Amino acid sequence: MLRLDGVTAGFGAGHRALDGVDLEVADHETVCVLGPSGSGKSTLLRVVAGLHEPDSGRVLLSGRDQSGVPPHRRGVGLMFQDHQLFPQRDVGGNVAFGLRMRGTGGSDSTDGTGSTGGAARTSGTGRTGRSGTGVRRGRGAGRREVDARVDELLDLVGLPGARGRAVNSLSGGEQQRVALARALAPQPRLLMLDEPLGQLDRGLRERLVVELRALFRRLRTTVLAVTHDQAEAFVLADRVVVMKEGRIAQAGTPLEVWLRPASEFVARFLGFDN
Ligand code: ATP
Ligand code: MG
Repeated sequence: MLRLDGVTAGFGAGHRALDGVDLEVADHETVCVLGPSGSGKSTLLRVVAGLHEPDSGRVLLSGRDQSGVPPHRRGVGLMFQDHQLFPQRDVGGNVAFGLRMRGTGGSDSTDGTGSTGGAARTSGTGRTGRSGTGVRRGRGAGRREVDARVDELLDLVGLPGARGRAVNSLSGGEQQRVALARALAPQPRLLMLDEPLGQLDRGLRERLVVELRALFRRLRTTVLAVTHDQAEAFVLADRVVVMKEGRIAQAGTPLEVWLRPASEFVARFLGFDN
């Protein structure tokens, strides 16, 4: 699904936020990226999304080199940590925005690389014939059809009946779910989440992370998620990637990394320093 070959990227001369990153994410796999602040996690997602051009190396999606491919044509969804809901729209309006992402712009291809328009924030691609959410692709959908799709997505994230609610009447966790529904709406071939539960308290995180895992398994979504929280990564991930200063310090199943940290850095990061 996703492959990075020797990706180096930075901000300004000589700066390396990513320094020769090789990474693969298989279809239907959930990979969690862990690492200290400043280690390049967000930059990694931004490079894959096409929001930041690498200085060298390649990003391939479904085997295709993405250099020069704009964000809205990559078929990836990115949910930022500060989920950026539109406060002036109600819940339904926010999720419908995600749905619209897949109906706008260029091609209507059947190879999973159709285009989406508008902000990269929730950029994504319709996946013709894929009915993981039960939501099917189509243009010019009438209001009722859009509402029905929005309701399906809200059911999916555990917010049934929330379509008409004002965004600012929702709790942080509920808003996070709306953002997730919006990111899922275009059925991106790769869903990327940057600290998706970052703003929530521990109890809610623990509940939501289990729900997310079940959701991704059910939809067979391919996911690349950043988190600070190892416990979260270990619940969510098929594989974890630990980053240090723009490089991958270790990649493996949660169990492998937990049982056999590859370096003192990883061991310390996992909290084995006392
Ligand atoms: P955090 O856990 O704090 O979110 P991160 O692992 O996501 O950190 P990045 O945001 O990818 O880290 O940043 C990696 C490096 O790139 C850091 O040294 C950071 O200061 C730098 N950096 C990130 N964004 C910019 C920017 N817009 N301009 C200049 N430097 C940046
Ligand atoms: Mg970050």
